[in-house]
Amino acid sequence: MMNLPTTIQEVQAIAAKLTFKTNAYIGGEFVSAKSGKTIDTINPATGKVIASFTACGAEEVNDAVKIARDAFNQGAWSKKHPTERKNVLLKLADLLEENLVELSVFEALDSGKPVGEIMGTDLPEAIHAIRWHAEMTDKRYGQVSPSGDESVGIITKEPVGVVACIMPWNFPLMTTTWKLAPALAEGNSVILKPASQTTLTTLRLAELCTEAGIPAGVIQVITGSGRIVGEALGRHKDVNAISFTGSTPVGCQLLEYSAQTNLKKIILELGGKSPFVLLDDVVDLQPAVDAALAASFWNTGQNCTANTRIFVPENRKEEFVKLMLQGLEENWKMGDPLDPSNNMGPMVSEDHFKSVMSYMDKALAEGNVPICGGKSPDGRIYVEPTLFVDPKKGSVLLTEEIFGPISCIIGVKSNEEAVELANQTEYGLQATIFTNNLVNAHKYARMIKAGTVSVNKYCEGDISTPFGGLKMSGFGGQDNAEAAHDQYSEIKTIFINLA
Ligand code: NAP
Repeated sequence: MMNLPTTIQEVQAIAAKLTFKTNAYIGGEFVSAKSGKTIDTINPATGKVIASFTACGAEEVNDAVKIARDAFNQGAWSKKHPTERKNVLLKLADLLEENLVELSVFEALDSGKPVGEIMGTDLPEAIHAIRWHAEMTDKRYGQVSPSGDESVGIITKEPVGVVACIMPWNFPLMTTTWKLAPALAEGNSVILKPASQTTLTTLRLAELCTEAGIPAGVIQVITGSGRIVGEALGRHKDVNAISFTGSTPVGCQLLEYSAQTNLKKIILELGGKSPFVLLDDVVDLQPAVDAALAASFWNTGQNCTANTRIFVPENRKEEFVKLMLQGLEENWKMGDPLDPSNNMGPMVSEDHFKSVMSYMDKALAEGNVPICGGKSPDGRIYVEPTLFVDPKKGSVLLTEEIFGPISCIIGVKSNEEAVELANQTEYGLQATIFTNNLVNAHKYARMIKAGTVSVNKYCEGDISTPFGGLKMSGFGGQDNAEAAHDQYSEIKTIFINLA
């Protein structure tokens, strides 16, 4: 069992010793951009510059894609026996485990996520994801078709080739491993494009990939702005697939880039405005309240499956609201991300803070009054956890993905009304239902339009269940489970005449 730091002093001592790689990782080397341009990465908790990383341009994207293609064709990874690929990926998981504390502190500095959350959830889940996908590597079968005695139809899976993964900043390392591990397992070359706010752990991850035995050119990291390098990857004719997690508007742009260039595969994990539904049969409210708080405020609300519309029977609303306020006060502590006892930090960046506060201002201007929170400490980019009750019809609180610690509770007259309102959104990523009745669990889970419906727990399933969105929340495939491997492979039919 690893010793994890438990005090802010211990974490600060680790942070003081860290050194950062800041150049892009291309062809197994850290290289700067030919333009010499850099972008500052800022610690959101202090506002201070941590480091300046290389701002790649189209030239570096071209270099990386060419090297990735050459590596794929040469076959040192793509043609390696699946069991050998599995062993390398298992070694990578071990290396992440050995470096768990260092990686967690990197991520806390970079993203403002509380270090205790990263050590306790993000890193263990990332390691588990790599191991799970590693184990799948040599257990993928093809099929033989029922084509009669005169022919044999072999339905086989092949890697797509060069895969680019464009990543968000809210769970930087964890979501990267969700894509990287199955893409590598299938034999592809992978180019990672981290979000500009959170580049540091991805660069360290690339080093660990090389240390584990992934050949040069098979894993590369292109740092730089999404508008420049993200678009260049999206439009590149020799990129075969893009796996993207981020906002719905950028996801839609990637579909356009693909349509205008080479019809590369596009897989999108996008935004949400997820509902939480307390059915009228629930006896003990406390477990539902604990889950609703986590669903609203985990990762300081910067969470694609945040449940920010909480539907509660009208006759239970008063008690539910009271318990929510009590639970928030007792269990949700905001403060320095380097303090392992905190579970909420600042917003990831000043720009994002301004965006969240602009939604708060709109909600207030609409006449909504928060029952807690609603403010931010002067001159800092923290947002108090904020709850509204029964927002005005059509309010931004009901329609917009705010992506901060702002949630609302809505009283409803019946289970049917709750589900009808839950479905009144353009998104369909995840939903939570609380019930004490098995029939109701099945009945209402089927009625909600979402990629994942969690019953009596707030979660996104686990690594063995596909995770993806319906409606404007997703497109083209799912992360996790064997579905993730399907994203990074193509079906080929080999049809042999036996007559
Ligand atoms: P974002 O603005 O869409 O950025 C995501 C990534 O796309 C970043 O790497 C960004 O680079 C890049 N990018 C920006 N413009 C681009 C362009 N024109 N072409 C190609 N790439 C471009 O989203 P975000 O603010 O990082 O993340 C928040 C969003 O992600 C929310 O909507 C959230 O719901 C969603 N999300 C979804 C899931 C899921 O699994 N469904 C999980 C987590 C988050 P730069 O950083 O350099 O701009």
